[in-house]
Amino acid sequence: MTERKEKIAIIGAGLGGAVAGALLQHSGFDVDVYEQAPSFSRLGAGIHMGPNVLKIFERFGVDKQVVAISSTPSHWFSRDGLTGDYLSRIPLDGYGATYCTVHRGDLQALQCDQLKPGTLHFGKKLVRLDDNGTDVMLEFEDGTSVRADIVIGADGINSKVREALLGFEKPNYSGWVGHRALISAEKLKKFDLEFEDCVKWWGPDRHMMVYYTTGRRDEYYYVTGVPHPAWEFDSAFVESSREEMASEFEGYHPIIQALIESTDEVTKWPLFNRNPLPLWSRGRLVMLGDACHPMKPHMAQGAAMAIEDAAMLTRCLEETGISGYATAFKLYEVNRRDRATRVQTVSNANTFLLHQEDPSWVYGYDVYAQPLKSESAA
Ligand code: FAD
Repeated sequence: MTERKEKIAIIGAGLGGAVAGALLQHSGFDVDVYEQAPSFSRLGAGIHMGPNVLKIFERFGVDKQVVAISSTPSHWFSRDGLTGDYLSRIPLDGYGATYCTVHRGDLQALQCDQLKPGTLHFGKKLVRLDDNGTDVMLEFEDGTSVRADIVIGADGINSKVREALLGFEKPNYSGWVGHRALISAEKLKKFDLEFEDCVKWWGPDRHMMVYYTTGRRDEYYYVTGVPHPAWEFDSAFVESSREEMASEFEGYHPIIQALIESTDEVTKWPLFNRNPLPLWSRGRLVMLGDACHPMKPHMAQGAAMAIEDAAMLTRCLEETGISGYATAFKLYEVNRRDRATRVQTVSNANTFLLHQEDPSWVYGYDVYAQPLKSESAA
């Protein structure tokens, strides 16, 4: 009888799933990643990657490439959206790695490039999975199926893996939307204004986070948080407009007005979340990232938590091997739940870095330097 190598299937090649795949492959595991999208395009959005994440990128040798495609701000400024007064000036160095802001599509492409050729399968929407105790059968919408020894659900807020573990439940609409727009920096030159590398403008009930998405500073990005009583659309996002932005931010600082005037396209996204889940794994199924702890994005740490999860899960599987998955999954949850829940809570509250504070607990964290708490610490 030929010996079969144990297989890991990851569902979803988002920012968490792609890193989980790369780290596990780097550690010698046999991993395939199944992504529902037919391909990834360069969607109009930026993302922060803090030093806590760059330490993980370093582990699989991609940190310098991430820095090369990113803007690396020296500070996070918080400013009053109406008066422009500074509410905080948070230094972004001194946490053991670089702080980056980057185009989300560029980052995702770079992450996916780290997966071994032939192991990322696009157009594979998981529709059913059956953990029969010995292995797991996965069925995709295109009629194909595969088996795996363990399955990692990195399939986002509407996770099919979460549904298999806990039943179907819609996420909670938070009552907020986020507008997202990329602006050509060329358009900003006509204004006699200083556009800072990374700044959050705070109003009484809304905000606008703004930063560059490239090291060349040729692309500027804003993402808002604006109250919006109900999400009345079926789609993941809808088109917004310069006029809508002007009305939402009427009376705000001239820099915000300049950004709105320079906007060609802007989209509007509902912000959903979930309460902390009662379990993160069962049997041969385990979840990471938004599948198990989605949050409002106001701390810019949602993807970071997915990536930290990926690193900790890899560490735990390295300890036990795949045959010890039950122990690995418990260890993983024990070593991740408190931190992910704390970040989820602070992020939902939208208070992070509003006033001068020390963000070391977030950015100074090194997932590899944490002594592993034993599973009995649960
Ligand atoms: P996702 O990135 O959602 O990836 C899930 C993947 O699974 C997708 O590719 C999806 O197509 C795939 N998938 C889903 N279902 C299936 C299926 N059935 N079969 C196969 N594939 C499937 N986080 C930060 O760290 N920094 C930021 O600056 C930041 N800004 C944000 C701004 C906004 C407006 C929003 C909404 C979020 C922001 N976040 C940020 C949060 C961040 O986007 C998420 O936390 C992060 O994307 C979660 O990663 P993930 O891999 O868990 O899930």
